[in-house]
Parts: sequence; C-alpha cells; structure tokens
Amino acid sequence: MLLNVQLFDFPQHRLKNFPDATFWRTSLPPECGVGLGSRRTFWQVTLLLSQLRDPTRSLRHGPHCVHDRPMIVPIKQDDELLREIHHVPGEDSRLHVWWLGQSGFLLKHEGSCLLLDPYLSDSLSLKYAQTDKPHVRMTERCLKPDVLTHISVVTASHLHTDHFDAATLIPLSKVNSGLKLVLPHPIISEARQRLGESEIELLGLDAGEQIEVDGWQIAGVTAAHNVIERDAAGHCHCIGFVIRRGKYIIYHSGDTLWHEGLVDSLPRACDLMLLPINGNVPQRRVAGNLNGSESAALAKSCAAKLVVPCHYDLFEFNTVTPDEFKTACNRLGQAYEVMLCGGLLIID
Ligand SMILES: [Zn+2]
Ligand SMILES: [Zn+2]
Repeated sequence: MLLNVQLFDFPQHRLKNFPDATFWRTSLPPECGVGLGSRRTFWQVTLLLSQLRDPTRSLRHGPHCVHDRPMIVPIKQDDELLREIHHVPGEDSRLHVWWLGQSGFLLKHEGSCLLLDPYLSDSLSLKYAQTDKPHVRMTERCLKPDVLTHISVVTASHLHTDHFDAATLIPLSKVNSGLKLVLPHPIISEARQRLGESEIELLGLDAGEQIEVDGWQIAGVTAAHNVIERDAAGHCHCIGFVIRRGKYIIYHSGDTLWHEGLVDSLPRACDLMLLPINGNVPQRRVAGNLNGSESAALAKSCAAKLVVPCHYDLFEFNTVTPDEFKTACNRLGQAYEVMLCGGLLIID
C-alpha cells in the first residue's frame, strides 16, 4: 500500500501522468469504497488509508489536497510534550496549563493532573468521512491517550465527541487505573454505553453543585449549547466548570453561548478563563459557541485576570482565527494569551 502525499498536491488531471497514481488507485482496499473522484474524495481515501495503516496515528497529510496548505504541527508533541508534562516536579505549586487542542487542556498543580475535555483521536474525522459534513482535521494530534499517564481526573462538559470521546477515554483509562470522569448527570447512561467495559468511575455534576476529586474542587456552571437543556430532574445536559485548587480559580466553559445568569454564576477575578471562540454559525449545522468578541467581553465582565481562547483550529468546517478575539481583548483592555496546541502556560 504505497501512499505518496505529493500525489495530493497535484491537480487531478495530472494524476494520470503520475506513475504512482496508477498503483495507488489500483491498490485501494475495497473497504475505502471510493475511487478517483473529487478532491474531497482523495482526502477521504487518505484518511481511511492512514487509519488502516496505523489506527493510532493522527492524519498528518489530511487537508493537503483540500486547501494546499500544511497541517498545523503542535509546538510540542508526543514524547517531547510528555517529557515536559512529567518533568514538572511534584512540589511545584505554580499552575501549569497545556492546550491539547479544541477544548482539551491539561492542568497540573503540585504533581496532580486534571484533564479537561480531551479529544485525542480521529473518531470524528472517521465518523463523518463519507458524509457531506467531513470533519477535516487542521492540527495534528499532540498526544496519544494511551501514553498519558498520571491522570486521576478527567472532565466531559457534554456528550459531543470533541468533548466526550470514547476513543480517547478508553485508552486513557487503561494507563490510569482508578480514573474518574466528571460529567453532567443526564449523560451518564449514554456515557456508560459508550465506554463499555472500561473501568472509569463516573461522577455526575450539575450546575450549582460542587465536588472535590483528588484535591481539585470542581463546580458545575450552566451552559447554553445552544439552549439550556435539562432532564426531568432539572439537571443540565451541558455544563462548564469552575475549578479551584490551591490559590487558583479557573473557569472552563465547555461549549456555550452567552446566557442570562452566566456572568452572575461565575467568580470575579478568576485566574484563568478557557473560552471557545468559534462562534454560532447555523450553516455549519452544529450547535454553536461564544465568538471571539463575546469571549473577550465575558472575561472582561468577570474581571478575569487572563483569558485563553480555544475550540478552533481542529476542524476546517468549524473554526475561526483568533483575530476577532485579540482585537476585542485589546479594545476592552482584557489580558489574554493565545496558546499554540501543545503549548504551555505557567501561572504564578
Ligand atoms: Zn458541543
Ligand atoms: Zn465542541
């Protein structure tokens, strides 16, 4: 199975002059189910072949054929990133924050790690590859979940796969025995089904409730994605998290729009807000989020000491640049930091 990524940078009409293309075309496994069609089809084929060859590897060359631009490479990745995470000594009482892409963050404080909404697989790209809504990955995966050890607590703010990903959580639980997952009450039964036999302890949380897990105090906050959805008991399907540990207060919003009562439910002057900026665009046919201006304004309304944007640069159909966010923060005088995937922020 020979794949030459250069092929995808050639216009289709020139492929017939390219000897490898013939080989490539004739050696497609039948399970790909596609032939030489649109450029999108080329990409879908690449994706399937990449997964067949190495299911654990992210799709390095995916978008080349679509936009002729390279995939974003995380600033630190795999072993180098792992080394950095594990080398922070247990007695270090500063808050270390790594962005793992989309809404995924790893917090480390005094040797204890909390993993927020990790998506470290290609499950959505695979799920939607054959549809009219392909989830074309823009940034390479920074870490495989089956090497990320020393994790005791992980969150899932809601059921969408970019926040609750069985293909991330199951391998993660195999290298972290006793792993606990904090998630909204109404999604627990669906979560159990998706996680199958894995031994993850599920801890339900609602807006207004608080639990303490391994020294991390985690309080739920109502999220509107796009509306505030509750089960018969009144529990929210989508939540955000206010996290307290040591002297630090962090707000991770999950996916949410601005809603009445949001500002009042958040602490003043928290150390760090982690907020989505991809906005709410109905044409994308997915539930939306705060845009860059709204995230800047939310942070400012709560007098946050620092705000970091997230939920962009993962899927081509559902992204923005951080420009609007940066402009709004500058206009409002709101302190911010734009992180790179795999990047580290240290808060004193
Ligand atoms: Zn969502
Ligand atoms: Zn999302």
